[in-house]
Amino acid sequence: MNNNKKILITGGAGFIGSHLTEKLIEQGNEIFIIDNLSTGRLENIKHLQDNKKLHFVKGSVLDEKLMAELIAQVDEIYHLAAAVGVKHILEKPLDCLLVNLNGTEIVLRQAEKRKVKVLIASSSEVYGKGDKVPFKEQDDRVYGSVYNNRWIYAFSKGVDEFLGLAYYKEKNVPVIVVRFFNVIGPRQVGRYGMVVPNFVKQALKSEPITVYGNGNQTRSFADVDDIIRAIIKLMDTKQAEGQVINLGADKEISINNLAKKVKELTKSSSKITHIPYNQAYPDGFEDLRRRVPDISNVRRMIGYEPKFSLEETIKKIIKYQQQA
Ligand code: UDP
Repeated sequence: MNNNKKILITGGAGFIGSHLTEKLIEQGNEIFIIDNLSTGRLENIKHLQDNKKLHFVKGSVLDEKLMAELIAQVDEIYHLAAAVGVKHILEKPLDCLLVNLNGTEIVLRQAEKRKVKVLIASSSEVYGKGDKVPFKEQDDRVYGSVYNNRWIYAFSKGVDEFLGLAYYKEKNVPVIVVRFFNVIGPRQVGRYGMVVPNFVKQALKSEPITVYGNGNQTRSFADVDDIIRAIIKLMDTKQAEGQVINLGADKEISINNLAKKVKELTKSSSKITHIPYNQAYPDGFEDLRRRVPDISNVRRMIGYEPKFSLEETIKKIIKYQQQA
């Protein structure tokens, strides 16, 4: 593996991006970050600010001139910049559409000039409200009404995947699409509705832990360090080009049990309360009952195996929040 590469990470000051930056620098690469700091935070990369191998640019992926200059210098791109978080998307639907659609198109168009390899971060949200568990890459994607903004994120990421595959097939750009499933870890903030940092924050403050709906809905949570390790490997895997790949953990937990686990691990006196969906989200919000990835594809491709248990990851998050 060549560890002397120049790499662009869009959204590099975000939760996943900052962990990736750290790891790639540690391996000896030179990193360029572009981040508009909408959800990303400088604090996430503060410990790297004096590192000569890191170049941070505050800017938007929609600034094509800037993107052209950056992409002209690099060997690889991890395209992680996106409007994320359920609440954010419901509040700013247009922002989400523009960043997620035009941003990805700009990255691919500029990458095409020198056939720079691009890894596009997609999401388990693209499966929409499909109820076939576990989700396999080839499965149908089932979306709700156009009048329900809740589906904008899923839709825009779905189009990003098509864009990536089209640039791969028609323009010979080496593109890899990765669908992340509920990635968690230190530096993720609960502000945008993500459940684990939210529960940990509530538990540490002895505030009620807010389970939405009846809490029987399930998710499978993946540790950010496992995810980073996998995407770096995928970037170096020829077979991954032109593919859409699920990435996550395949152990399922109900949100009720997650709340209990967080309460136990924080030794919190918090009460666990249930909040009806219509109070937790704007009208018409549809939550997914179960979400589990089929990860046989990535297992086969790179021998992927999640290393961290949910308990270990929650403990890392607790430690991070206690120090923050
Ligand atoms: N959730 C919850 N309490 C919270 C935040 C989220 O019960 O404070 C629920 C949410 O309704 C969903 C699950 O936790 O069923 C995961 O939510 P998250 O936003 O983290 O991820 P996603 O819905 O994208 O899987």
